Amino acid sequence: MPTRFTPEIREVFMQRLAKEFPNPESELEHRSPYELLVAVMLSAQMTDKGVNLATRKLFAAANTPQAVAELGVEGLIPYIRTVNYYRTKAEHVVAASRALIEEHGGEVPADFDALVKLPGVGRKTANVVLNVAFGMSTIPVDTHIFRVSNRTGFAPGGKPAAVEKKLLEVVPEHWKHDAHHLLLLFGRYICKARSPECERCPVAEFCSAPEKAARLADAIPGAPSLDPEPQASKPRRRAKAQK
Ligand code: SF4
Repeated sequence: MPTRFTPEIREVFMQRLAKEFPNPESELEHRSPYELLVAVMLSAQMTDKGVNLATRKLFAAANTPQAVAELGVEGLIPYIRTVNYYRTKAEHVVAASRALIEEHGGEVPADFDALVKLPGVGRKTANVVLNVAFGMSTIPVDTHIFRVSNRTGFAPGGKPAAVEKKLLEVVPEHWKHDAHHLLLLFGRYICKARSPECERCPVAEFCSAPEKAARLADAIPGAPSLDPEPQASKPRRRAKAQK
């Protein structure tokens, strides 16, 4: 039967994630709100590691709206060519940099409405900047958070905006600032899309996802395998389960 998430259970759920991820911080390298904004704009459908490789070179050469605006799209592209959709992203980053200069004195505004008016900045990017750079209790929903919120039943919703609304309703107030990174890291490293690691999941007792039943059944010798991973990775997990 699905878990009925009471306020007490939600508190324990968040405590378990915090124990698992004691330093819930962004893995995008940045030293200013502007660097963070650029990194998040480049991060769509990219790993943070891939973005960091590009921004390390870029920020060494240009890390202010003025410097990036001066580079222009063609000057920016060589730094971010390894990032997917680099041309569109370069156009957005340069246009946003110009808007910051013209409308915000070259500073990143700590304001949601102002952020989402910048070219290429959507709801998620704006909320990440507000959360990470300005310490606000926003809960931006990315693909990991959308998945784990629905899979666990912690904050179900049909679209990212609905999950964000539900999370803001149900996450205990004192967890709101860290909730984004805790849920993101949980989805990135444990409750993964294709191969959730249910065997070491700190909130497994609250989870009624079919994936959990499949993974745990797969850990029992002789049970039919539902694992989408290559066969070569299975002996290690089975050996561990037999201990
Ligand atoms: S038990 Fe498995 S499916 Fe459920 S939350 Fe944990 S890792 Fe995800």
